[in-house]
Amino acid sequence: MSLASSTIAELRRHLLKKDITPTDILLDLQKSITQDHGTVGAYLSLDIESALKEAVNTDVTLPLGGIPLAIKDNINVIGQPCTCGSRFLNNSYTAPYDATCIQQLRSAGAIPFGRANMDEFAMGSSTENSALGVTRNPWDHDRIPGGSSGGSAAAVGGNLAIAALGSDTGGSIRQPAAFCSCVGLKPTYGRVSRYGLVAFASSLDQIGPLTKTVEDSAILLNYLCGKDKRDSTSLDASVPDFTTVLGKDIKGLKIGLPKEYFIDGIHAGIREKVDQAVRQLENLGAHIEEISLPHTDIAIATYYVLAPAEASANLSRFDGVRYGHRAENTSDVLDHYLTTRAEGFGPEVKRRILLGTYVLSSGYYDAYYVKAQKARTLIRKDFTDAFDNVDIILSPTTPAPPFKLGELRDDPLAMYLEDLCTIPANLAGLPALSLPCGFVSINGKDLPVGLQLIGKPLDEATLLKTAFAYEQSTTWHQRKPAH
Ligand code: GLN
Repeated sequence: MSLASSTIAELRRHLLKKDITPTDILLDLQKSITQDHGTVGAYLSLDIESALKEAVNTDVTLPLGGIPLAIKDNINVIGQPCTCGSRFLNNSYTAPYDATCIQQLRSAGAIPFGRANMDEFAMGSSTENSALGVTRNPWDHDRIPGGSSGGSAAAVGGNLAIAALGSDTGGSIRQPAAFCSCVGLKPTYGRVSRYGLVAFASSLDQIGPLTKTVEDSAILLNYLCGKDKRDSTSLDASVPDFTTVLGKDIKGLKIGLPKEYFIDGIHAGIREKVDQAVRQLENLGAHIEEISLPHTDIAIATYYVLAPAEASANLSRFDGVRYGHRAENTSDVLDHYLTTRAEGFGPEVKRRILLGTYVLSSGYYDAYYVKAQKARTLIRKDFTDAFDNVDIILSPTTPAPPFKLGELRDDPLAMYLEDLCTIPANLAGLPALSLPCGFVSINGKDLPVGLQLIGKPLDEATLLKTAFAYEQSTTWHQRKPAH
């Protein structure tokens, strides 16, 4: 059996029966990653040696005992690099501590062993903004895997990881999950501690799992959530066992289809697959109704004011003094800051810093930043109103299938429009999940399509229940890309 292509749940059963050991899993993954020869290129670095040492001492009776995880390269794992896909932190920073989510996963027995590629500082939708390597879509190597958690999704979808962690500020878990045919979950804002996640836009960032199945998503979520005194925005909410809802029926569940997400610009193949999924959910007993989220059309503009504003503040810590890249032979302090930042950051990060600094500057603050905050309130209210009548909101995850490497590289605006369906859930702080709902065939290649479900605050359980019911009535999750 191929261990690398197995799920957490399958491996756990074999580990407990002692058919396999944690070492077997790591060695099988190592073999698959070596055989990939960097074609998919999901990883920036691996720490197989320490992982093998940990594997020997793992207590397999722990809930995640012996399960190796790929971690997006913006989440701190002690002793490992944490480059954020940037020249700024490459070869010049080693994580001095474990992020809270990593600590929690380790306590449950998981082994973080590989660093997944990503768009620089999580800014992007294709992983092409990584300064450190190319990642390709496992379903079509000429195409992008999505982003910014593209390495995490490509690793899981390409059977180069059992499961992975990503971060989602405006869709960065869900969009790559859709493009690589995996399950990606962005929890409610505050569900998962952000301590140890390198901040992009602190009011939007959330860590979440990318997995092969809905069950694995529920399993990982169990160990990610919880109040953390080191993150004041983490929520003190009870954490249910998310696996207990799997298999419950969805009869009578009310699902809303926001008309603003089903617009003409949606690719016809995606539209067809999502429509089929809706009918399938109806067959399973759900009630479908059209709803309206009237401020959807201002979500992208709102996000591209607020996220860069927060990023420009967060990234001011990269000053060439405390950590990371340092320019050499500079003449004075100002020259040192300027040269270090000019050398260390790539073009997209610079664009965001400029944009963010501009919208926060005096004279423009009210016109842009304050206005965007007001718009955010309206967007959030749309969801609150909609959830008075429905339990779940459904949409495509992306308006189009994965594009070709290089296709949108010089067109940032077109790249930003990719996030049309995913950004609103971040602005509203809501949990949202993407799962496979079929494939569209383009030039003889089957490209994955993602179905997005958005839930009420803290109601990840209903998302997972619905996703599981749908997944189990299909075979999409069983399809594997040809190598
Ligand atoms: N694609 C979006 C951006 O470039 C979202 C990124 C994310 O969620 N980290 O900002």
